[in-house]
Amino acid sequence: MRARHKPWAESYINENPDIVIQEPERLKGRWAEEFGNDRPVHIEVGTGKGRFITGMAEANPDINYIGIEMFRDIIVTAVQRVTEADKPANLRLLNVNAERMEEIFAPGEVGRVYLNFSDPWPKARHAKRRLTHDNFLVRYERILPPEGEVHFKTDNRGLFEYSLMNMTDYGMKLADVSLDLHADEPEWNIMTEYEEKFSSKGQPIYRLEAAFKN
Ligand code: SAM
Repeated sequence: MRARHKPWAESYINENPDIVIQEPERLKGRWAEEFGNDRPVHIEVGTGKGRFITGMAEANPDINYIGIEMFRDIIVTAVQRVTEADKPANLRLLNVNAERMEEIFAPGEVGRVYLNFSDPWPKARHAKRRLTHDNFLVRYERILPPEGEVHFKTDNRGLFEYSLMNMTDYGMKLADVSLDLHADEPEWNIMTEYEEKFSSKGQPIYRLEAAFKN
């Protein structure tokens, strides 16, 4: 996702520390305190402009949600969206690279990981940057409980096939694999910005759920 440089982004983010958590590593093992309850914590890695995570927080008040986005000029739009939604009490954002997630979450502290329209990184030499590469799977496994799940949606056939194979090779158990998520328009589906864009052009949306076997 490309975003125009927004010189005001840094100050806007700093003015909203109740939404974008600063130094999130200080909350490792203490996210229940931050939310004021011990409900499950679900995270979205690569949250972009925040449509999915905000919609999920509004639709599921019994789950706590954390959106992770590494680019300031992108996450700032998510901050605006969360503000317009009257700052749901069960939603936080982190402006960090997901490579740092083990510094931020204790083992088993995250109940589910969502990956939506992750960057495909089609060149083999960039494979390690894919959010379904072992580099990241090993991190998700450490912060999830045994049999924790990753839910993944994409428009990109190549990334989907790679992810199916890599998650299987990693030993994950796949479920609910769909090659056209919108064919049946599931009522529980919350669309992301990319999903809206690609599905409105008639492109199929691929989806899977994958559980670690531990
Ligand atoms: N999920 C959104 C959607 O579906 O509309 C955004 C999709 S966009 C193609 C992928 C996003 O993931 C980008 O905003 C990118 O900055 C973010 N991203 C990619 N790798 C990341 C990482 N390692 N840590 C945090 N964010 C990452």
